[in-house]
Amino acid sequence: MSDCIFCKIANGEIPSNTIFENDDFRVILDNGPATKGHALVLPKKHYADLFEIPEDTLAGAAKVAKEVASVMKDKLGCDGLNLVQNNGATAGQTVLHFHLHIIPRYKDDGQHILWKPQSPSAEELVAVKNQILGE
Ligand code: AMP
Ligand code: ZN
Repeated sequence: MSDCIFCKIANGEIPSNTIFENDDFRVILDNGPATKGHALVLPKKHYADLFEIPEDTLAGAAKVAKEVASVMKDKLGCDGLNLVQNNGATAGQTVLHFHLHIIPRYKDDGQHILWKPQSPSAEELVAVKNQILGE
């Protein structure tokens, strides 16, 4: 996509703080990081989101994320790590080029990435299960 900023970054047309690159992916530092080392796995080909990205490319992104996560644990000494991937504006996606967030976590880093649990009844859970299963 000619007007997609992540296409341009992933393919080196716009400079970035690249921490990993192979034929299919570039991993860059997020310029609005949640924590020190927050990075984005960008496929070099344009896919808007999880619904568009082919399964093998998604698997490739996961493999790259695992490699980078290991490096972060080693080099940054993070205490934990979140993988986050947003799809659609409602889910917080702001750049419509698939990207996988790698967010190293540190004790007392002040971030709140996890959700607030709701309390559905047993019947409500069964109703959702049935809706998903088409029963
Ligand atoms: P999302 O909300 O999942 O779409 O995440 C988009 C992420 O891209 C945000 O965390 C932004 O800080 C980050 N971002 C946007 N533009 C750039 C850029 N030019 N370089 C690095 N990170 C960016
Ligand atoms: Zn793109």
